[in-house]
Amino acid sequence: MKATTKLALIGIGSFIIYNEIQKRNDNPKVFYVNRIPGGFNGCILPPFGILINESQRDNKILIEHEKVHWQQYQREGLLPFLANYWAEHFKHGYDLNPYEIEARLKSGEIPCCLHNYTECVRNGLSLTVHNPNFRH
Ligand SMILES: [Zn+2]
Repeated sequence: MKATTKLALIGIGSFIIYNEIQKRNDNPKVFYVNRIPGGFNGCILPPFGILINESQRDNKILIEHEKVHWQQYQREGLLPFLANYWAEHFKHGYDLNPYEIEARLKSGEIPCCLHNYTECVRNGLSLTVHNPNFRH
């Protein structure tokens, strides 16, 4: 076996082990970043942790929202979660994606924003965050 093949297998094996450890981690690391593509304020990057825009560092509801996505990853596993999340996204769109609705509901979003979240974030009605450029 070539050295590069061995290194690749060690890398893949390490990632699989790390993912299994992280799936059991109820307290994922939060990384504060200057920008998240797509105008988002937060997202999860399984198995590494949660990304939160620096401007939202103290936004407990947003961090709670992202922790619900982390729990979805824990519940389903990395590849099933990503496949299911994106299947629902393409079927229903972002606002009506059941994974997003669950995160909004469990993080305490107000009921009238559960199904038209983008508009609520843009116009400041959402409890999560006010961002006129959300998803632009
Ligand atoms: Zn979400």
